[in-house]
Amino acid sequence: MSAYTNEAKYVLQDLQSDPSNGLSTQEVEKRLSTYGYNKLHESKKKTLVQRFIEQFKDVMIIILLIAAAISFVVAFEEKSASAFFEPLLILFIVVLNAIVGVYQENKAEKSLEALQKMTTPQSRVIRDGKEQIIQTSDLVPGDIVKLEAGDFIPADCRLVEANALKSDESILTGESVPVDKKADAIIAENEPLGDRVNMVYSGCVLTNGTAIAVVTETGMQTEMGKIAGLLDGDDNQKTPLQERLAKLGTYLGIVALIICAIIFVMGIMDGMPILEIFMTAVSLAVSAIPEGLPVIVTVVLSIGVGRMAQRHAIVKRLPAVETLGSTSIICSDKTGTLTQNKMTLLKAYVDGQEIEDISDHNDEQVKKLLAYAILCSDASIYIDDEGKEVSVGDPTETSIIAAGRKNGMMQDDLATTYPRLAELPFDSDRKMMSTINQIDGKNIVIVKGAYDEMNLHMIHGDLGKAAEVVEAMSKEALRVIAVAYKEIDEIPTELTSEILENDLTFMGVVGMIDPPREEVKASVATCIKAGIKPIMITGDHVLTATVIASQLGIYKEGDLAISGQELIKMSDEELSDQLEKISVYARVSPEDKIRIVKAWQAKDKVVSMTGDGVNDAPSLKAADIGCAMGITGTDVAKSAADLILMDDNFATIVEAVREGRGIYNNIRRVVGYLLGTNIGEIAVVFFAMLLWRKTPLLSMQLLWINLATDSLPAIALGMEPIHEGVMNEKPRPKQEGIFANGLGVQVVLQGIMFGLLSLIAFKIGMDDGGLADGRTMAFIVLGLSQVHHAFSMRSHKSLFKIGPFTNKSLNKAAAVSIALMLIVIFIQPITTIFGLDHLSIHLYAMAWILSITPVIVLEIAKALGLAK
Ligand code: ATP
Repeated sequence: MSAYTNEAKYVLQDLQSDPSNGLSTQEVEKRLSTYGYNKLHESKKKTLVQRFIEQFKDVMIIILLIAAAISFVVAFEEKSASAFFEPLLILFIVVLNAIVGVYQENKAEKSLEALQKMTTPQSRVIRDGKEQIIQTSDLVPGDIVKLEAGDFIPADCRLVEANALKSDESILTGESVPVDKKADAIIAENEPLGDRVNMVYSGCVLTNGTAIAVVTETGMQTEMGKIAGLLDGDDNQKTPLQERLAKLGTYLGIVALIICAIIFVMGIMDGMPILEIFMTAVSLAVSAIPEGLPVIVTVVLSIGVGRMAQRHAIVKRLPAVETLGSTSIICSDKTGTLTQNKMTLLKAYVDGQEIEDISDHNDEQVKKLLAYAILCSDASIYIDDEGKEVSVGDPTETSIIAAGRKNGMMQDDLATTYPRLAELPFDSDRKMMSTINQIDGKNIVIVKGAYDEMNLHMIHGDLGKAAEVVEAMSKEALRVIAVAYKEIDEIPTELTSEILENDLTFMGVVGMIDPPREEVKASVATCIKAGIKPIMITGDHVLTATVIASQLGIYKEGDLAISGQELIKMSDEELSDQLEKISVYARVSPEDKIRIVKAWQAKDKVVSMTGDGVNDAPSLKAADIGCAMGITGTDVAKSAADLILMDDNFATIVEAVREGRGIYNNIRRVVGYLLGTNIGEIAVVFFAMLLWRKTPLLSMQLLWINLATDSLPAIALGMEPIHEGVMNEKPRPKQEGIFANGLGVQVVLQGIMFGLLSLIAFKIGMDDGGLADGRTMAFIVLGLSQVHHAFSMRSHKSLFKIGPFTNKSLNKAAAVSIALMLIVIFIQPITTIFGLDHLSIHLYAMAWILSITPVIVLEIAKALGLAK
C-alpha cells in the first residue's frame, strides 16, 4: 500500500520506526546495505574520446589542420623525408593541444566536483533517540527527518507532523504555487502526485513551516529518481571573458586568412614559386593563432577556484570568479557573518525588574520567562557520547535553553510537562514565532520575537519601562527577544499570525550578546581601502546593528542607519539620493534586500549580497555575486548563490574579492603576453615577405617557439602570486574590457617591437650567411625575447621593485623554455631538421642582445610611467 493512502502511524509501523527514537545505528546500517545510498545516478558524462573530438571544433585548430594539410602537399612535392617533419610537427602540436585541453578540462571539472562535494546537503534526523545532522546520502527508509522552511526535501517522506507547511513542487508537477501540506490527510490510491498533500517529495523545496516526517523512499526509488534522467543538464559554463577570448581567437584566425590572401596575391604577382607561397601562408596562419590561450585561461581560472576553496569560498559558477574582482559593494548580514553567532544570554527584564546578569540562581519570575521562551523554541542542546554539550539549531534559542539549564530547567522535562499542541514557525518577515502549549490544563499561546515588531500590533502590559530597557539593551549591542502570551479556549483550525500573534500579554525580554568576529574589523578596513563599500543589512534592531557596525568600522560618523519601515517610506529617487550615506539597514525583510541591490546596480555598481534564508534566494539571484552561508544557509539560498561561504564569514568574501582581482590580473597578463608574441610573429613574417619576399621563420620554427617559449611562461604568468597592492586599487568598472587601461595599445606596440627586432636579426643573419642563418637569428631573437618579456609582463612596476625572480613558477618555466631553445639551436641533427644553422659566436651574442632589448625598453617605459 502506498504511504499516502494510510495514516502516518501505520506507515511508521510498516517501516518499523518511531518519531521520538527514530532508527538505531545498526538498523540504519542494515537498511543501507539493502536500499543503498540516497543518491540519484549521476548523469552520463562525455567520454574522453567525445571530449577529444570536441577540441577540434575550434576555428583556430581547424586553421592549423588546414595548414598541416597544405604542408603535407608541399612535402609530397618536395619528395624529401625531412620535409614531412613540418606537417607532422603541426599535427603533433594540434594533438598535444587537444590532449592538454581534455586533461585540463577534466581536471577543472574534477576540482569543481570535489568542491561541490564539500557542500553536499545534510539532513536533520532522529536516530538512537537523538537529533543528529547527517549526510543526506546516508538517509534510509524509516529515518525520521526534521524539516524547515528553506530545506530541499532529502527523500520522499510521509509527513508525521506538519506546521504551516508549504512545499514548492514545481520541479515535479510544474505547478508553481506552493502546495499546503497536512500530516493528517489520507489520500486515495493513484491520486496525482500534486494532490498527495500528506507527502513531501525529494528535490522539492519547503517554502514555509516545519515538519517531522518519515522517509519512505530514497535514491532512484523516489519520484525524482524516476525522472532523474530527464533533468540532466549540461552545466558547462564559460565565463564572459572566456567567451570573449574565444571570439578573439576567431577574429585572429580571420586576420590570418586575410594576410595569407594578401601574401598569396603578392607572391603570385611577383612570380614566386607556388610552394614557397604556400609555406609562407602556413607560417602566417601558425603565427597568428594563440593555440595555448583557451587552455591556459581555463588553467588560471581553475587554479584560482582552488585557491578560493582553500580560503573557504566555494565558487559555484565559474563566471563569478571574474565578477568578484570588480565587486564594489558588499552587502552583508550581521548575525553570523559579521558577528560570531555565539549568543550568550546576559540580561533580562521581567515583572518590572531588570536583571543585569542572568545567573544560576534566578527568582521564579525570571525562571518562568525562561521556561516560556524555551517552550517556544525549536533548537536543542544534548550531551554527546563524550559528555560534551552540543547545540543544534538557532543560536538565539540555544542561548535561552542554555540559560534555562543553568537554572536547573531541562528542555525535555518542560516539553513533557507542558506539551506543545501546535506551532507557527519563525520567519524573517514576521521576526517572531508562536507555539500553543498545555500549561496547567490551559491552552497558552506563547509568542517570542523582536520586541518592536510584537509591540506594533499586539501586546498589553507595562510597556513604558520595557521600551526604555529594550533601547538601553540595544545600545549595548544586545539582541533583545521579547516573550508574550495569551490563553485561548480552543486550538484554532487555521494557525495564522493574525489569530495567534495578537492581543497578547507582555511577559518580559531577554538580552543576549553576540560578539563581532575578530577578523572582520581588518577586512572592513581592507574593503574601504580597496574602494569597496561594506554595508550591513540585518533583521536585527537598528540600535543593536548600528553599535556593532560602528565597532567594525562599517558605520561612521555622518552615515545613516535606517530601518525597513523607513526604507519602505522612501521613494526610489530618495533612496538613490541617500544610497551612498546609508551603511546600516535594520529590521529589513528579504524583499527590501532586492530593492537595495537594484538601487546600487542602477548606479552601475557590482553588488555582492549575502543570504541564508529561504526568502533570500531572489536577492541572491538579483545580486551580481550572491553569497550563501555554508553553515547556517538553507538549501534554497545555497542553490541560488554564486559563492558559498563555508565559514559564514565576512572576511571570506573580502578574501574572495582579493583572489578574484588577482585571477583577473593574471588572465590579463597571460592574454597580453600571448597576443604580444603572436603579433610579433605575424609582423616579422609579413614584413620580411613585403621587403624581401622571404619567409623569415618556417612554420615548424614558429610552432616550436609557441610551444617551448610561449606556453610555459604563459602558464607561469597565470600563477603569479597576488601582488600586495591589489586591494589598494579601486574596483574595476563593470563593463571594462580586458584590454582597458592601455593594455591593448601596449600589446600591439610590444608585438611590433618583437617583430622589428626579429626582422633586424633576420637581415643581419641573412647578410652574414644566407637564408638559414637569417632564420636562425630570427628564431633565437623571437624565442628568447619572449621568455625575457614574460618577466616584464609580471607588473607595471619595475622588475627590480617587485624582485625579478619572485615568481618561482616563472623561473622554472623560463629555464625549461631556454633549455628547449638551446637544444634546437645547438644539437645536431635537430638543428638541421628544424631548418636552422650554426652561427659564429658574435652573431649569437648579437641575437642575445637583441632579445633582451624589450625588457630594457619596458623598464624605461615603466620608469617614465608609460607602461600599464
Ligand atoms: P541577520 O539578518 O543579520 O542575520 P538576524 O538574525 O537578526 O540578522 P533574522 O534571523 O531575520 O535576522 O531575525 C530577525 C529578528 O527576529 C531578530 O533580530 C530577532 O529579534 C528575531 N528572532 C531571531 N531568531 C528568532 C527566534 N528563533 N525566535 C524568535 N525571534 C527570533
